[in-house]
Amino acid sequence: MPLTEDQIAEIAELRSTSQPTMRATAPGMEQHLYTAHEVLDHGFVRVIDYMGDDAAIVQAARVSYGAGTRKSRDDSGLIRYLMRHWHSTPFEMCEIKLHVKLPVFVARQWIRHRTANVNEYSARYSILDREFYIPAPEHLAAQSTVNNQGRGEVLTGDEAARVLEFLKADAGRAYDHYEQMLSQEGQQGLARELARMNLPANIYTQWYWKVDLHNLFHFLRLRADEHAQYEIRVYAETICRIVADWVPAAYSAFEDYRLGGANLSGKALDCVRRMVKGEQVTQETSGMSKGEWREFEALLS
Ligand SMILES: Cc1cc2nc3c(=O)[nH]c(=O)nc-3n(C[C@H](O)[C@H](O)[C@H](O)COP(=O)(O)OP(=O)(O)OC[C@H]3O[C@@H](n4cnc5c(N)ncnc54)[C@H](O)[C@@H]3O)c2cc1C
Repeated sequence: MPLTEDQIAEIAELRSTSQPTMRATAPGMEQHLYTAHEVLDHGFVRVIDYMGDDAAIVQAARVSYGAGTRKSRDDSGLIRYLMRHWHSTPFEMCEIKLHVKLPVFVARQWIRHRTANVNEYSARYSILDREFYIPAPEHLAAQSTVNNQGRGEVLTGDEAARVLEFLKADAGRAYDHYEQMLSQEGQQGLARELARMNLPANIYTQWYWKVDLHNLFHFLRLRADEHAQYEIRVYAETICRIVADWVPAAYSAFEDYRLGGANLSGKALDCVRRMVKGEQVTQETSGMSKGEWREFEALLS
């Protein structure tokens, strides 16, 4: 379970109190505040705080004094226009602060997104919990034969059982030694900052992660994509659902133009134009490499 009984009670307590405010609030987001959305076997995503809503994007774009009197249809249209034309700064007026619990190897991919503010749990100061990500059997897959950066068929039978056993036993043994190395009664022990170094990359860590909506969309476009590794994608998909409730108009524009849309090269666009006119375009006549053509065909099919 990702949260202890005490932590669940603490969250319930937080959610039972409220204060009046003159700040803009998003009803869809209020329902998520503090609640832990479970991800993987021990992970979660929780919204700790947020600033702004769809109207804040519109207000900033119009540099207006109040919430305005225009219809939400106009606001959605403006938000779609901003998204379509990469006018990104109004989206930076919204911010979100998340508490995320995630395996270290996922954190290494996540931290590459530099345009966020992060504070991670200190394993120099505190002792890490005995919690490791062990993939569910359906996610225990072999190396892909067509994609160097991906997985292929799911392991079955004895091989699956053997791999699972390795993962569990290695994590358990490493943690046992971590505990035994730590300073404790009867021995001097090793400092926490050193004892942690034998722990595997599937141990869980936690951090607070604050980012503005523009950079969050950039993160989500890359990490909610089907090519992203499953273990980070599930976090991105969870955040997508939260953002859809927070800023429905902005999320809908993002879903349409970024998640559902695609960038075409000049050559690809030229092929589309020729195809529309009825020409039979092939890889050889397209001017594209085999790899580009394969991706182009996948896009159209
Ligand atoms: C499918 C996939 C595979 C990947 N594989 C690898 C890999 O094999 N090895 C690897 O090392 N990484 C890999 N990455 C990470 C990738 O290269 C980026 O580091 C990561 O996606 C963060 O993107 P970003 O830099 O655009 O985001 P952010 O760091 O959030 O930056 C957002 C934007 O701000 C600007 N910016 C921020 N900081 C700087 C800076 N210091 N200098 C200039 N511009 C800046 C850039 O325009 C950038 O696009 C992979 C990512 C994906 C999605």
